[in-house]
Amino acid sequence: MSRSDAHVLILGAGHAGGAAAALLRQYGFEGAITLVGEEPIAPYHRPPLSKAWLRNGPSAGSLPLKPVEFYVRHGIDIRLGVRAEKLRRRIKTVHLSTGELLTYDFLIIATGARPIKLPVPGSDLAGVLALRTAVDAERLRAVIQSGQRLAIIGGGYIGLEVAASARALGADVVVIEREARPLARVASPDLSAFFLDYHRERGVSFELGATVSGFDGRDGRVSGVKLDDGRTIACTAVLIGIGATPNDEIAQDAGLDTARGIIVDLEARTADPAIFAIGDVALRPMPIYDRMFRMESVPNTLEQAKQAASAIVGRAPPPSEVPWQWSDQYDLKLQIAGYAVNVERVLLRGEPATAKFAVFHLRGDQVQCVEALNSPQDFILGKQLIANRRSVDLGKLGDPAIALKEIAETAVKIAAGD
Ligand code: FAD
Ligand code: NAP
Repeated sequence: MSRSDAHVLILGAGHAGGAAAALLRQYGFEGAITLVGEEPIAPYHRPPLSKAWLRNGPSAGSLPLKPVEFYVRHGIDIRLGVRAEKLRRRIKTVHLSTGELLTYDFLIIATGARPIKLPVPGSDLAGVLALRTAVDAERLRAVIQSGQRLAIIGGGYIGLEVAASARALGADVVVIEREARPLARVASPDLSAFFLDYHRERGVSFELGATVSGFDGRDGRVSGVKLDDGRTIACTAVLIGIGATPNDEIAQDAGLDTARGIIVDLEARTADPAIFAIGDVALRPMPIYDRMFRMESVPNTLEQAKQAASAIVGRAPPPSEVPWQWSDQYDLKLQIAGYAVNVERVLLRGEPATAKFAVFHLRGDQVQCVEALNSPQDFILGKQLIANRRSVDLGKLGDPAIALKEIAETAVKIAAGD
C-alpha cells in the first residue's frame, strides 16, 4: 500500500482532529481522509467560549478553525453529527452511529474530553450547566445577564474565566472551590493569591475549602447550592467546572492501553502501529520532564496533530516542544510555560501589585516552569530557558531592573563555560 492509497480515519472533529486533517494535506498526504465528529458543527476554537465569545455573543465566523469549504476543497470527507461507536482493531473497522462501517489504514483517535459531573442531589435541575461545546456556551450566556446570580463550582480555568466574563455582563458571581485557593491545580500559590484578590476587587465572591452537598430547586429550576457545613448559597444558575475526563472508552474497549487517557509514544502512536491518539484524550510522554502527561490545551493539541500527521506521511517528527498554556481574565493575560515538577525554589520577578510579574520555578539554577502575568517577555525568556536547559544567574533573574536580554545572554555564557 502506498501512502496515496491509504485511508486515514479521524475520530473526533474537534481541535485535534481538525488540525490533523489539515496538516495531513499540508504535508502532502494524497490518500483519503474521513473526519467523523459527534457535534453538529465543523472543528472550532473552544477557548473563546469562556472568554470573548461568551462576553460579546455569537459573532459569525469567529469560532471555526477553517471554513466548511476548506474540507470540501481538500477532499476531506467530513461527517458531522455522527458518533463512532465501536473499534475493531483486528479487521481495522469502526462502527458509526449511522449504522455504517468504515475501514481504515491509519486511525487517529481525537475524541477529546468531557466535563466531570458532580454526582449530588439536584444536579439534574434546570439551570445547572457545564461548559465544553458551543451549545453549552449559548445556554450559559442566556443565564449570565445583569440581575442574575451565577454560582460557579470549581475555581479552575473555566471557573475563573467565566467569572470574569459574567462580571463583564453584569451578573453576580460566587465561586465555590474545594481547595483553599483558586487555580490550585495549575498555578503557584503566588499566582492564586493574585487572581483571588483581582477577582474579589471586581465583585466576585469566593467560598474556598467548601464542599457542595447538593442543589436546591424551585419549580424544577436551581435556586441554591447546598454546602456540607449546612449553608445554602442562593443563585439563579450554576456552572460546574470541576475538570474534564478523557473520552477514551472506545480505545479501552478495543484493548488499547489507557490510564485516564490513551497511552501514546513520541509520535502520538499507540501500541497498535496503525492507531494514533492526540489532544485531550492522549496520555503522552514529555521528554524534558521525563514523565507522561495528559495535557488539555490548544498548543498540545496542535503539537500532537503534527506528530501523528508526520508519522503517517513519513516525515521527520517535530522537535520536542516546551508545553505551554494561557488564560485571559479581565485585562489579564496569563501565560505558563513548562510544568512545575521537581521544583526546589520559586523566584518572583516583578511586583504583583503592578499586575505585571512572573513566577519562575527552578530546579538548581535551571528553569522548570514560568508563570508570566501580563509579561510576554518573561514568558518568552522562560520558555527559551526551559527548552535549552541553560543555567541562569538567579540574582539577576530576581531583579526586575536587570534586562531580560542580559539574563538570556548570561545564561548562554554560563552554559558555554565562560
Ligand atoms: P475537543 O476539542 O474536545 O474535540 C473532541 C471532539 O470529539 C468533540 O467535538 C467531541 O464531540 C468529539 N467526539 C467525542 N467522542 C466522539 C465519538 N465517539 N465519535 C465522534 N466524535 C466524538 N486551551 C488553551 O490552550 N487555552 C485556552 O484558553 C483554553 N480555553 C478553553 C476554554 C473552554 C471553555 C474549554 C472547554 C477548553 C479550553 N481550552 C483551552 C482547552 C482546549 O480547547 C482543548 O485542549 C482542545 O479543544 C482539545 O482538543 P481535542 O480535539 O483534543 O478535544
Ligand atoms: P480544572 O482546571 O481542572 O479546574 C477544576 C477546579 O475545580 C479545580 O481547582 C478543582 O480542585 C476544583 N474542583 C474539583 N472538584 C470540585 C468540587 N467537587 N467542588 C469544588 N471544586 C472542585 O478544570 P476546568 O476549569 O473545569 O476546565 C476543564 C477543561 O477545560 C480543562 O481541560 C481545562 O484545561 C480546559 N480549559 C482550559 C483553559 C485554559 O487553558 N485557559 C480555559 C478553560 C478551560 P481540585 O484540584 O481539588 O480537584
